[in-house]
Amino acid sequence: MSYQVLARKWRPHDFESMVGQEHVVAALRHALDENRLHHAYLFTGTRGVGKTTLSRILAKCLNCTGEDGKGGVTSHPCGKCEACRAIDEGRFVDYIEIDAASNRSVEEMTTLLERAMYAPSNARYKVYMIDEVHMLTTHAFNAMLKTLEEPPEYVKFILATTDPQKVPVTVLSRCLQFNLRNMTPAAVASHMASIMQAEGLEAEPAALLMLAKGARGSMRDGLSLLDQAIAFAGGKVTLESVRSMLGVIGSDVLVELTCKVLEGDAQGALDIADAMGMQSFSYAQALRDWAALLHRVAIAQRVGQRFDENDPEAAGVEKLAGLMSPEEVQLDYQILLQARNDMAAAPDEYAGFTMAILRMLAFKPAGSIVGSRVPVHEAPVEKDNPVGGMAAVHDNSSVAAASTAQTEPAKSKPQRSPLGVAAEPPPVVAEPPVELVEPDLDALQDVAPWDDAGEPPRGE
Ligand SMILES: [Zn+2]
Repeated sequence: MSYQVLARKWRPHDFESMVGQEHVVAALRHALDENRLHHAYLFTGTRGVGKTTLSRILAKCLNCTGEDGKGGVTSHPCGKCEACRAIDEGRFVDYIEIDAASNRSVEEMTTLLERAMYAPSNARYKVYMIDEVHMLTTHAFNAMLKTLEEPPEYVKFILATTDPQKVPVTVLSRCLQFNLRNMTPAAVASHMASIMQAEGLEAEPAALLMLAKGARGSMRDGLSLLDQAIAFAGGKVTLESVRSMLGVIGSDVLVELTCKVLEGDAQGALDIADAMGMQSFSYAQALRDWAALLHRVAIAQRVGQRFDENDPEAAGVEKLAGLMSPEEVQLDYQILLQARNDMAAAPDEYAGFTMAILRMLAFKPAGSIVGSRVPVHEAPVEKDNPVGGMAAVHDNSSVAAASTAQTEPAKSKPQRSPLGVAAEPPPVVAEPPVELVEPDLDALQDVAPWDDAGEPPRGE
């Protein structure tokens, strides 16, 4: 037997085996059980979340005759009767799937609607599934409206779209709308795990999680990636093989890179960037992963986080949460997002990536890079805020560097002590309001450096 891709082989054939979309499944089941069927449904959601799959299951529910041939409309299609099997195999004449992207004209729609007027040949219901319905022309939509409002009783419409905004309100209002959600990486990974088990193949849980994240909410994309990973690994699917397949840099490398930036070690950071290039990792992907890492750090700092034991990033996230101030996390995250936007305009990916690193270094709140002109705009100190000084700076090297920095004005925001890892909490000092002076880099050269107690120099 020829190889069948996983997404097709493991396409769910009934509501029970659907992964995710519980809210839609529950609603459809109730409608079927109570025989309160609408004549037109609209499924919305990104690609590969189950729109076509749900539509086929619904068609089976409507047309299943049961194993004994006497069954009626059911929420548990038998999967064995002629109707069920024919729909599964894609040869049921009264279940018609149309791709609106390639059949979008009014003539095609009119033909379809004319045919819909004939009773089904050998079934209870004629089910029309119109995929990517937003691609229809305005005329085609208009031709549809009348039939959509009052179709013959044996006709059901299932419309599907990835872009509901482009579907006219007149059509929306005639349909029962269900929004299919993106799959969570955990749901995709767990489905992958059960498939791997059923296929008798081995995989590391962390590898599946990485593939699932790469699928960005789409089960079909996830299973295609899994197909690739199985072929690529040629045996057990490991984290290492998935990383190199996806061109994804390990989070440990990104953690190390972040540390270099925190230390103000430009050469060290660029060395890592160069090494990434040598291993032909994708810089664009690295920007995305780096931002995702900082997002996790921000959450870990703010609310704490319980980590899954298979989570390969856990140690790195915890480490950075202890080293970085929340402001730094925010700033660096913003720089990464900006760099992703700028990537297309950058001379090349390497330049786009390294400029993000250099920008992080240039805008480092502690201003610890020798010879750099550090932006020194700060808001005036609020009266009641404790002045954190340098208490929560990352590590010794930064503290040392920062103490020699000459351009740091009064800090305005309290430094949080992330996860209790950083230094002692800052002493609460009642500060008199400080006059905000326009930053003047030359003048700042003359301002006394901070002393170690974290007492900022006063503007005169
Ligand atoms: Zn059946």
